[in-house]
Amino acid sequence: MAEEKMQFKAEIQQLLSMMIHSVYSNNEIFVRELAANAADAIDKARFESLTDASKVRDWEIRFTADKDAKTLAITDNGIGMSREELIKNIGTIAYSGTKAFMAAMEKAKEEGKAATPELIGQFGVGFYSAFMAADKVRIDTRKAGEDKAWSWTSDGLGEFTIDESDKAEIGTTITMYLKDDFAEYLDYWRISSVIRKYSDYIEYPIRMKHTVKNGDVETEEDSTLNSMKAIWLRNESDVKEEEYDAFYQHVSMDYGKPARRILFNAEGVTEFKSLLFFSGHMPFQFRFGEKTNKGVHLYVRRVFITDNCPGLLPEYMGFVSGVVDSSDLPLNVSRETLQDNPMIARINKSLTHRIFSELSKMMDKDRENYEVFYREFSRMLKEGVHMDYANRSKLQDLLLFESMNNPAGKLISLKEYSDAMPATQKAIYYISGDSRDALEQSPQLEMLRKQGYDVLFLLEPVDEFVLGDLGKYAEKDLASVSKGDVKFDEVVQKELDEKTKKAGEESKDLVEYLKKTLEDRVKDVRFTGRLTESPCCLVSDANDPTLNMQRLMRAMDKNAPVVKRILELNMDNSLIKAMKRLHERNAEDPALKEYAEMLYDQAVVAEGGELRDPVKFAKRTASLMAAAIEKELSAD
Ligand code: ADP
Repeated sequence: MAEEKMQFKAEIQQLLSMMIHSVYSNNEIFVRELAANAADAIDKARFESLTDASKVRDWEIRFTADKDAKTLAITDNGIGMSREELIKNIGTIAYSGTKAFMAAMEKAKEEGKAATPELIGQFGVGFYSAFMAADKVRIDTRKAGEDKAWSWTSDGLGEFTIDESDKAEIGTTITMYLKDDFAEYLDYWRISSVIRKYSDYIEYPIRMKHTVKNGDVETEEDSTLNSMKAIWLRNESDVKEEEYDAFYQHVSMDYGKPARRILFNAEGVTEFKSLLFFSGHMPFQFRFGEKTNKGVHLYVRRVFITDNCPGLLPEYMGFVSGVVDSSDLPLNVSRETLQDNPMIARINKSLTHRIFSELSKMMDKDRENYEVFYREFSRMLKEGVHMDYANRSKLQDLLLFESMNNPAGKLISLKEYSDAMPATQKAIYYISGDSRDALEQSPQLEMLRKQGYDVLFLLEPVDEFVLGDLGKYAEKDLASVSKGDVKFDEVVQKELDEKTKKAGEESKDLVEYLKKTLEDRVKDVRFTGRLTESPCCLVSDANDPTLNMQRLMRAMDKNAPVVKRILELNMDNSLIKAMKRLHERNAEDPALKEYAEMLYDQAVVAEGGELRDPVKFAKRTASLMAAAIEKELSAD
């Protein structure tokens, strides 16, 4: 077959332009990315060799520098690629990661942060980082069982060329024609230091030949650059922090430090060794809405099996990454049926148990770091409340919220709330909305504040669903203050009940009038004990969704119904008293209707809601002001 020119897929071309034209401070990472690809290719070949002994080779990754030609090559004897795979994998398939990576880089730029090419591996497009260092890249590859080898060549500018290759050995060689200012990567010591920094844990030898001068005598040596030790089998005291961090970055798709490291060896019913991390940052894939099970790599007696084993951990534990090395599973375990293997379920149980205990330990003993972690990953724990009924009681204790009686930014747990409750308080109260500032002004909180009750502020959209799922905590109801009744301690409650009952009787006509006038908007009108200052507020009926919940439901489904709420009145408020008198004087007074409308509107405004007709509200307010000013002037 003659050589053939092909076009890069548009997104990939954009990515390549970005690689070629930007200057990155952390450009050494291309070495790491290519070494990781080489190790993956060997993982795949080794996995096949588990069931086919003829495929066993002396696994190796090798760097070769040619100082005259200014080329750096990396060779692996892994799986290799067929012609189709070569075309598909490199240049034409645009993984979702391509766009996501570029978006992340753009975002960093907009925010004035340094570009972070080290993220490239996270997005599954690591190969293209070769173009940071090279103005031409050539791939030669041969797949086991195929009679031909293939080459791929490109300068990264629009096209690549596919041709036959004379590569004899199975595996892949990637040759980089280095840019002038990348000549340092021809140097053994430079490559060696990058490998030790990022790729030391790779289990196959990464070798490079180099010349050693001894006096006048030059000899060529072949050295292994990485220690190849399975980091999870080493004593914690023998491993440097940087080594753990590099390994964490390899498994987690994160670029920083982990929030916590757990070295955990299980013995007994299931035996495995594991090195786990809680992520420091939300992986970008999650931000872009993708889900992966890829955090935890499964090994069987030091042999890599898969980095995607559904069922190894609950799905919502996407914040965990690391390695589990089992001694129970058979080496030739099939990846397809792995999920149904009872051994996996047992490992899952044991890991989950340990992860919960680490999370609660972190919350108790290392609160500051837990809160940093929580702010990043609370969404996943909340998802857990919804999905993992069996572990709900553990999950609920890991949740944190802001609250009315604590300063902004301070988070408390349900237990802390419940421990601080006055003995007479019956329920755990919450209110939900977008911003703390708006919630703090809510009229619904007035009496609770006066009684010294605390109220949780639910600021995340999912929170109300989560507390709804829980229903109760420590035998106490979780109750929204914008819904149904709020119950105070017996003495206070008795007094309030009597007062509201009396007010209701005395103002029956006004209440009826308001109900009729506002009937298209409110379900009911009644007096309440929950207000101390404001004239009125809106609350949902006990079994109806709150305003916030309704908003969320409408965001998901435009046709979700609007559920009418109850207008509650404050019997001690002068406006309500004045309206009562006006109504008694002349129930037909057209001004009264205007006031009724405004009363409703300002209840909506008070809770930060949207008015149906803001222009009308503004006009009414203006005309009221004009009347008030004129009255004041005429009194002179
Ligand atoms: P990733 O490795 O994250 O999937 P890359 O852009 O680095 O993304 O590589 C794309 C694909 O090219 C890989 O998934 C793999 O199938 C193939 N590939 C890259 N390097 C090699 C290699 N050394 N040997 C075999 N296949 C490779």
